[in-house]
Amino acid sequence: MGRGANGVIMKVWRADDYRLRVTSTEAVTDKCQRIGFTAGGLLADHPVHPTQFIRLWIPDAETDKLHHRAFTTIDQDPASDHFHIEFAVHTGPASVWAQRAKVGDEIEASVLGSKFELPETPPSEYLLFGDTASLPAINSLLDAIGDVPARVFLEWQYESDQTLPVRNKPHHQVTWLQRVDDGRLLREQAQAISCPADAFAWVACDGHTTRSIVKTLKTSHNMAKSQLKYQAYWK
Ligand SMILES: Cc1cc2nc3c(=O)[nH]c(=O)nc-3n(C[C@H](O)[C@H](O)[C@H](O)COP(=O)(O)OP(=O)(O)OC[C@H]3O[C@@H](n4cnc5c(N)ncnc54)[C@H](O)[C@@H]3O)c2cc1C
Repeated sequence: MGRGANGVIMKVWRADDYRLRVTSTEAVTDKCQRIGFTAGGLLADHPVHPTQFIRLWIPDAETDKLHHRAFTTIDQDPASDHFHIEFAVHTGPASVWAQRAKVGDEIEASVLGSKFELPETPPSEYLLFGDTASLPAINSLLDAIGDVPARVFLEWQYESDQTLPVRNKPHHQVTWLQRVDDGRLLREQAQAISCPADAFAWVACDGHTTRSIVKTLKTSHNMAKSQLKYQAYWK
């Protein structure tokens, strides 16, 4: 199957390629599919870090095209070269693939551009904005930040979304907000928030919501570039 223009770009940037094999499939909810993979050597080459992601080459059910989609690796075990991915289910080739995947299925993956380190000096608080696509990455952050307080703002679309496991500890406050008007409630929340001067914000929603929240954090709450990490997770 053909990788198209994205394949050329990955080659130019010397992305590492791997073949993954499905080891387990589990419906966490009707809108979230958790799949286990053996990593084909990926974890030996790429040390685990919070929010680590890979790019899957998703076969199209109808054509011979491969679609290029980013997903977060979670619960990585380098010793057994194994990790999980949790797919938020909507429409689209990756969702379809995740719902149909069976143990033993194989899929190609590339690794390029995944790097993130927590701030060297811990902030007084983390502010995390996301949705079900970035919840796996947010959970990896909550696992990593230890004793530092955090407020987590998550957008939900489907009734079952709010039952998804969030790995918050008692000092991590979680607020679910319904997705209405293309992310209006999350954007308003970013405006209304009290923001400590040395907070660190991590933002990963759809493109429009991500850009809008980042702008608010910079202009209304005077957050510096160094206090922010953001990436659009879907459009
Ligand atoms: C670094 C990174 C890590 C990511 N990690 C994860 C992860 O661990 N789990 C995960 O589920 N997603 C994750 N995503 C998001 C995922 O790559 C996108 O949602 C992707 O578009 C899904 O591909 P698809 O083929 O299913 O849908 P597409 O073909 O891209 O889109 C089909 C339709 O579905 C809509 N759509 C796409 N994504 C969503 C969504 N999340 N919610 C609602 N509607 C949507 C589109 O607007 C479009 O109308 C990550 C993205 C990035 C950049």
